[in-house]
Amino acid sequence: MGVEIAIGVGLFVLGSLLGSFLNVVIWRLPRDESIVAPRSRCPACGALIRWYDNIPIASFFVLGRKCRGCKAPISWRYPLVEFAAGLLLVLLYLHFGLGAYLYVYGPFVLALLAITFIDVDHRIIPNEISLPGILVGFACSFLWPGFWKESLLGILLGGGLLFLLSWGYSLLRGREGMGMGDVKLLAMMGAFLGWRSLLFIALFASVQGVLVALVMWLAGVELKPPLPEEDEEEEPPAPEPGPDGPPEKVGFFGAAIPFGPFLSLAAVEYLFFGAAFFRLLSGGQV
Ligand SMILES: [Zn+2]
Repeated sequence: MGVEIAIGVGLFVLGSLLGSFLNVVIWRLPRDESIVAPRSRCPACGALIRWYDNIPIASFFVLGRKCRGCKAPISWRYPLVEFAAGLLLVLLYLHFGLGAYLYVYGPFVLALLAITFIDVDHRIIPNEISLPGILVGFACSFLWPGFWKESLLGILLGGGLLFLLSWGYSLLRGREGMGMGDVKLLAMMGAFLGWRSLLFIALFASVQGVLVALVMWLAGVELKPPLPEEDEEEEPPAPEPGPDGPPEKVGFFGAAIPFGPFLSLAAVEYLFFGAAFFRLLSGGQV
């Protein structure tokens, strides 16, 4: 028992440190900045952040949510990502124990965490994560006998299934709902989790995406009309068109809601509830 608590605490600390690194990735990767070279600076005043002001979660509160130098407010985003990364590793440990699942799914969920916030900020899912992710996921599939076939089918279905979803959406709405970034993300998920997971992920990502859009609509959050109006973009820094084509994409009900976070959420849910879900579907037997 004591050992498990120690491992859990250790994993939380490790996760929050990795989360701190993810914050750097989330900020720098879409801006094509190096994620290793220069030390972190305050985005407001440019002051170097000292190591003792860069302790995950704790520094945010010690500093009173302000930069030590210029007193510019620090976003809740930073401790949130650090906490989420720590929590995810602990939850994986509680669910799977120490072993191959933790070592494979740990980096996987941390990558999803970075993808989620990059997609929220920039409406892109960087190839730098998704394409190596496909390869790593497939390579890891050989840890489990025979799973490489599920993984390979997952990559193929991941690409194909989302293409079909996107095509269906475009028939309904007369415009593209998901971009190629989402397709590559789903292929990466298929590589890590096998093709079966994609049925779960497509279902739960869509349902939760529609629910969130519905709640936003009920709450009176102004959703954009089907015709996108670029100048109404809330985020001032407009992302440049990447190799995937124009980044502007129109999500549920014509509102610009990125789909990557919902796919990522559903993939994490699959890790914890997927097996139970399929047992339920098959009448309790698997
Ligand atoms: Zn500052």
